Amino acid sequence: MTSLRIRRPDDFHVHLRQGDMLRDVLPSTAMIFGRALVMPNTLPPVLTGDDAVRYERTIRDAAVMAGASAVDFQPLMTIKIVASTTPEIITEAKAKGVIAGKLYPEGVTTNSEDGPKNLRSLFPVFERMQSEGMVLCLHGEVPGVFCMDREEVFLHSLRDLAVIFPRLRMVLEHVTTAAAVQAVMDTSFLSPGVPGNVAATITPHHLLLTLDDVVGDKLRPHHFCKPIAKKPSDRDALVRAATSGNPRFFLGTDSAPHARDQKECASGCAGVFCAPVAMEVLAEVFEDHHALDKLEAFTSEFGARFYGLPLNEGHVTLMKPKDSPYAVPERIHIVDGEIVPFRAGETLRWLCEV
Ligand SMILES: [Zn+2]
Repeated sequence: MTSLRIRRPDDFHVHLRQGDMLRDVLPSTAMIFGRALVMPNTLPPVLTGDDAVRYERTIRDAAVMAGASAVDFQPLMTIKIVASTTPEIITEAKAKGVIAGKLYPEGVTTNSEDGPKNLRSLFPVFERMQSEGMVLCLHGEVPGVFCMDREEVFLHSLRDLAVIFPRLRMVLEHVTTAAAVQAVMDTSFLSPGVPGNVAATITPHHLLLTLDDVVGDKLRPHHFCKPIAKKPSDRDALVRAATSGNPRFFLGTDSAPHARDQKECASGCAGVFCAPVAMEVLAEVFEDHHALDKLEAFTSEFGARFYGLPLNEGHVTLMKPKDSPYAVPERIHIVDGEIVPFRAGETLRWLCEV
């Protein structure tokens, strides 16, 4: 049996939901990851430091109920940057432990109807984030544009922000295009004398899927997410970035569970529940591209360094059991129904354990 022991990973982009769903899905993240950056697009949204403190307490309580290794899990809190966010809200949130603000342009994904229409009106907020050392996480798509082009069109705004706020650390979340990968690499040359301030998260599923896996032959709602998976050449660029050892690219799973009936219907929700298989899928991808030696940095070092956090102390072990590969369940039962995880019904070569 081959095995690989690596530093306990961090997930720098996850949707942990609320209520029963939170308790159902949290163990998939908290049993493996040391920390996770928790997205604020809940209902109601996380808009202030006080909201974040309340949500963090709920998550920690759920982690205690999940038991064992989940108890050590540390949620990293964010607030949602909306049109009504003020510089004062930023300072107050930072003082309460919030490390990032997440910006969703209006209407671009789940619960983003309150997003800002134009970024210029938020410049005083970005200015304050820069001076407070708070990271700006960007859902980098322009609403209203043809869906395959939304990310690429957003890159103009990314370049502008990187020039106007050269010390504001920004993360272009869940990149899906070769153009986005290139834009993130290019930003290091925009402001001479300033170390690059733009990084990107990459999801496990975007390292595997193309649009064909969503709508090519059959409609596969459990592969539908935003930004939508793109062309094979885009997917290949993401794989090259993730396995390159470039510290500007690190793991954010964007694990986003929805109940099965919310996915398999006439107007299905966007989101892939990849947390239960995230490390296993990454091990496969990195192994297939002869880059297993780069996996630990991608999952456990680059993100923490970008956010200025210490590396996790613990470790996880990826095993490749010869006789009993990991059979991913068809469905995961939850209080209110069931969720279909990424790679449901398939067998994976690797298995990750704490
Ligand atoms: Zn997300």
